[in-house]
Amino acid sequence: MQLSELIDSLKLDPLAYATGWKKNHSGKVVGYMCSYAPEEIIWAFGALPFRLMGTKSVIDRADAHLQAYCCSLVRGSLEDALTGRLDFLDGMVFPHTCDSIQRLSDIWRINVKNRFHADVVLPAKLDSDSASDYLVATFRKLITDLENRLGRSITEKMLGDAADLYNEIRSHLNTLYVLRQAHPRLINGSDFHAIVQASMWMDRNDFCKILSDIVGFFTEQATDASFQGKRIVLSGGVCNVPDIYPAIEAAGAAVVGEDVCTGDRFFQGSIRMQGDMVENIARRYIDRIVCPAKHHGLFTRGNHLIQKVRETRADGVIFLFLKFCDPHGFDYPYVKEMLDQEGIPSMVFEIEDRSLSEGQFKTRCEAFIEML
Ligand code: SF4
Ligand code: SF4
Repeated sequence: MQLSELIDSLKLDPLAYATGWKKNHSGKVVGYMCSYAPEEIIWAFGALPFRLMGTKSVIDRADAHLQAYCCSLVRGSLEDALTGRLDFLDGMVFPHTCDSIQRLSDIWRINVKNRFHADVVLPAKLDSDSASDYLVATFRKLITDLENRLGRSITEKMLGDAADLYNEIRSHLNTLYVLRQAHPRLINGSDFHAIVQASMWMDRNDFCKILSDIVGFFTEQATDASFQGKRIVLSGGVCNVPDIYPAIEAAGAAVVGEDVCTGDRFFQGSIRMQGDMVENIARRYIDRIVCPAKHHGLFTRGNHLIQKVRETRADGVIFLFLKFCDPHGFDYPYVKEMLDQEGIPSMVFEIEDRSLSEGQFKTRCEAFIEML
């Protein structure tokens, strides 16, 4: 297959894909909304981990259960569940992260019935002495819950195979990021976004094979490192708006790094393969850079972003937040202050309901990039 065909094969209609996968594999599909959900464990059970990204439809029924000032990811996902668009899901895994996801879990349990439902109560402080033991116990409980509800048990080898596959996927994604840093025009932002999204929806074995071929193509093509435009790091939570990439590219810049939980935070780090696999899987989540819904030192996120800007030789940072996202909103002032102290320019943009106010983003983006 040609490179373009491979990339096109990853541009999915996620709901139709999951429905088809379930039918063809007679398998279970388990939804999740946050990159703290241990996908490896779900996959080890032979179930498809499926990340919810909000809805494409108008939000109506969800508003009877959630305040209008919840983020569109939470409101949109509930809307899809209440209207039956997520009926292919056999269950949901809700990690204890931001308040909105925690409250959504309660509402989901009561209103979306007859499905497997697991709260994964992660420690809030990931840098304490007991965090690791606590997380291991939490993941062991999740395994028992999944065993009871999915009617099958898993062995250490099955966990090891799943961890191995995820290590390979994350390593390939990381290679793509490194290639993009060195050759910002090599992979356009929308294609890159489609690849990362498919990693959260597709059969992971199929995805890994396609991804490996894509990495091979891009590695061969990566010869010209000249790029005169401005280099941007994106920072925020879930990014589900592919239209931002063409807008940034049209303004003469390129995204060279993504400190977001549908990017960097999703594939950072690898799982150790020797020893107890639950402990190894938990260790990766402890060591991974935290999102603002967790705590790991007072300045960790600010320092991480500064380091990312330095590593990628970025000229500036665009903060991209979903409207009403409290964790990112509360973290923003201190992170911005740290960037200011380092002389790193930044701009912030809020998105609502998946739709980018394209004109507004374009104008703000052009002005920001021009001033870099
Ligand atoms: S920002 Fe944190 S809590 Fe929110 S979806 Fe991402 S990992 Fe989960
Ligand atoms: S972290 Fe923010 S964007 Fe993610 S679910 Fe929570 S409130 Fe929504």
